[in-house]
Amino acid sequence: MPKRRRAIPGGRGNTSRPPKAWTRWHEDAACADLPSQLFYGHETENSADRAAREAAATAVCEQCPVRCQCEAHAVTMPEPYGVWGGTTEASRRNHRHRVVAPAYGKTTRAS
Ligand code: SF4
Repeated sequence: MPKRRRAIPGGRGNTSRPPKAWTRWHEDAACADLPSQLFYGHETENSADRAAREAAATAVCEQCPVRCQCEAHAVTMPEPYGVWGGTTEASRRNHRHRVVAPAYGKTTRAS
């Protein structure tokens, strides 16, 4: 049986090295011991399953003590996949189109 990956954002399974300063907030993540499948969907996931999964994941984020750090990380990197800091892939994509792209003078799609 394959080892289950942890859901912790940015926690790609390497626990042998000490955390860098910018990732220390991961240690307090509410999702640290949850399966990554809750925060990351798969390519064939339908919209109803995605909505249910994202609702469950963002409910975890609402109780998370490092939500602000996580959301800031996801928006500034930017992280294209998964639920981070209570944001979804779609909400971060919308944020980029509405806020980031216009700030750099790029045109955006009409929504
Ligand atoms: S805010 Fe959500 S995704 Fe981020 S560390 Fe907390 S539980 Fe995990």
